[in-house]
Amino acid sequence: MTTADHYAERERRAKENDGWDLADDEIKCPRLLVGRPCLNEDEPGKCWCSSRLKDHAATWFERGGTAFVLWEPYGPVDDEELADLFAKAHADCLQVEICASPWNPGRTIGIRFRLDDRRLMGWLVDE
Ligand SMILES: [Zn+2]
Repeated sequence: MTTADHYAERERRAKENDGWDLADDEIKCPRLLVGRPCLNEDEPGKCWCSSRLKDHAATWFERGGTAFVLWEPYGPVDDEELADLFAKAHADCLQVEICASPWNPGRTIGIRFRLDDRRLMGWLVDE
């Protein structure tokens, strides 16, 4: 399979299994979901999205149109590395969960970032 085929297969699986539609293959920093800039714009490597876990990253729409960012690294993934990533995402008002990965099912894992409405509300009130 060519690389283009892998991308097409991922889109087909995501649509068939979860009803997801690809939004953008270029928007990869989850901070953008909460209206915060990627910190790499200031200084390359500064943002937590520089994680090696950010593989096959893309923005998707779930059924109903809500956007989320999905990273799909190959496993196994270190627990501490994952805990650190979750803590940083939570601090940026994002929900994170591990989910099935449409890239290479059984070999890649899905790390899904979504806007956490409650946290965002709290964050806006605090500012
Ligand atoms: Zn970033």
